[in-house]
Amino acid sequence: MSRFMSSRYVDLEPYTPGEQPREQKYIKLNTNENPFPPPPEVQDAVALESEKLALYSDNECTELRKVLAKRLGVRPEELVITNGSDEILYFAFLAFCDEKTPAVFADITYGFYPVYAGITRVPARILPLNEDWTLDPTMYRDAGGTIFIANPNAPTGLALPPQQIEWILQKNPDHVVVVDEAYVDFGARSCARLIRAYENLLVIQTFSKSRSMAGGRLGYGIGNEKLIRDLNTIRYSINPYNVNSLTQAAGIACIEHDEYNFVNCSEIIENREWTRAELLKLGFRVTESRANFLFASHPAFPGDQLYARLKERGILIRHFGIERIRDWNRISIGYRWQMERMIETIKSMLEETV
Ligand code: PMP
Repeated sequence: MSRFMSSRYVDLEPYTPGEQPREQKYIKLNTNENPFPPPPEVQDAVALESEKLALYSDNECTELRKVLAKRLGVRPEELVITNGSDEILYFAFLAFCDEKTPAVFADITYGFYPVYAGITRVPARILPLNEDWTLDPTMYRDAGGTIFIANPNAPTGLALPPQQIEWILQKNPDHVVVVDEAYVDFGARSCARLIRAYENLLVIQTFSKSRSMAGGRLGYGIGNEKLIRDLNTIRYSINPYNVNSLTQAAGIACIEHDEYNFVNCSEIIENREWTRAELLKLGFRVTESRANFLFASHPAFPGDQLYARLKERGILIRHFGIERIRDWNRISIGYRWQMERMIETIKSMLEETV
């Protein structure tokens, strides 16, 4: 650290992204990307848009909001578009939390929540998950702050049904409940239809997972107009051009070919279920994930060993340096051949250990 770093941030613990090796030597199952490329029409849309790069991007994302609103069955005013869903999470911390309004979230959940609490100087109220990684909604009664729930949760993959989220919304009428649905398209149920009934609901979704656009950095929030206006106040105070024009064009083409994305999602779900069954046969504990990853642990391998030994053999999965989940790993779901290769590799590792 240089001696110029602000004293406000000397203790800041930044987020640790999963490894992003640029050489293609790994089967990469560590950062929940979609193995499929985006719809082919996205390429043409980006090429065409690149002719207009001399101009600033549309800070209202007018066309993208229009097509997305139609797709989601909401009004464009009920949407805010951001540079990945990480950015809207940040905006939500700025808009809806402060010293007296803590951020409330689970102990095992998306690692960016504590990081945003840190940088925004917001106290965090951390509620433990149950032993089986399920979330007990009753712990969130009158939670006394802005609630962040990843649904499905990461890295466990477990999802709450919308009725339980609705209960939490009802029990916290004076606080915003942020439902982070980054993985919702892999078999969970969205709460987006509840935004008209609950003025305190903000639903967050992304193009990074089910729409194969992680590198495009495109996320969005769905909520009532007033919440969205608050988020826009923050957005216009930080970066009104937060979504570049190439990404807007890519997003429009991607949504216009959403059937393609959803065929791919079905294949990923099939691969997930196949992989889960194989891992169970090999003696793993595996959660019933509704996301594009599995959360698994094996009695013969401490989590860091499974991670390291698979890496040696060219397969990257994710291990977190968090005590409570030290025995567990998160495995993103890729193409079937990639999952087969991983299962074969684990089988041979198990044979070596007996
Ligand atoms: N929420 C959750 C639960 C996630 O796992 C991720 C991906 N790391 C995000 C949000 C952010 O995704 P993105 O910024 O790519 O939309």
